[in-house]
Formats: sequence, C-alpha cells, structure tokens
Amino acid sequence: MSIPAPPYEGGCQCGTIRYRITAEPLTVYACSCTECQRQAGGAFNMSMIIRQSALEISKGTPKETERVSDAGNRIFGYFCGDCGNRIYHRPEQSNAIFVFRPGTLDDTSWLKPVAMVWASSAQPWVTLPEDMTVFEKGPERFDQLLELWAKA
Ligand SMILES: [Zn+2]
Ligand SMILES: [Zn+2]
Repeated sequence: MSIPAPPYEGGCQCGTIRYRITAEPLTVYACSCTECQRQAGGAFNMSMIIRQSALEISKGTPKETERVSDAGNRIFGYFCGDCGNRIYHRPEQSNAIFVFRPGTLDDTSWLKPVAMVWASSAQPWVTLPEDMTVFEKGPERFDQLLELWAKA
C-alpha cells in the first residue's frame, strides 16, 4: 500500500478538536454492521486502526461516551462536545489501539479499505471492488485485517 508519510492531520467538523497521527495506521477497513450504519448515519463506517501512542490531540478535549457491545465489551467513544462529530473509540479490552474514523482526516484521498466486514448486513445497493476482501460477518481473528493491510 503506498500511503503518504505521517503525520496525518485532521479534526472535527467545527474545528474545536484537532489531532495529529504520528505513525502509519495498522489497517483501514470498512464495516457494514448495523451499529456502524447507525453511528455513521450512513451505509457503513470506515475504521483506521492506530497505535494509541500515535495520537496527539493538538486542540480541544474530546468528550467520552460509553457503550456496551452485543458481546458485552465496553467501548469508549470520543467525540467533539460542540459539534458531536465522532473521532475515534477505544475498546476496553485493548490498551494498545484506537479505532479511528478516518473520514475526519484533512486528506482522505489515500484511504482505501482492505476489507468490508459484516457484508451480510450491507445495504442492498452497495457493490464492492473485486480486489476487496469481504467478510460476511466479523473476521475470525482481528489480526486478519492487519495482515491484509500489510500485504496490500
Ligand atoms: Zn467539533
Ligand atoms: Zn461495524
């Protein structure tokens, strides 16, 4: 995958929150699960996995919200308290990664998901590129998404 060198800058819609990501992502994938559709208010979400150590919040302080997943895991979401724009979330069971919403980057031109997850609940009009790996549900191992990115 040829991607621009870090850092990557971005922020929320109103500009209260600005951030900088200082290392290359571990993967970028898309998810059509119903929770992602609701959170995005759209057909799917894109997720960019980054190391927690790679995130610098350069302006503002994101607000935290908590949700319990169907599997019973707590997920902490971070969003702008002024405009409500969701920026990233942190699964409770991981102290290493953030799941980032890469549509909040200033430059989204290089983003290309390596996989679509939960394609079984995708909206019926969504067609996927032939070179994209498709998982009908979640991947058996989360690492599969990282391996696909490393090979791309
Ligand atoms: Zn904002
Ligand atoms: Zn999802």
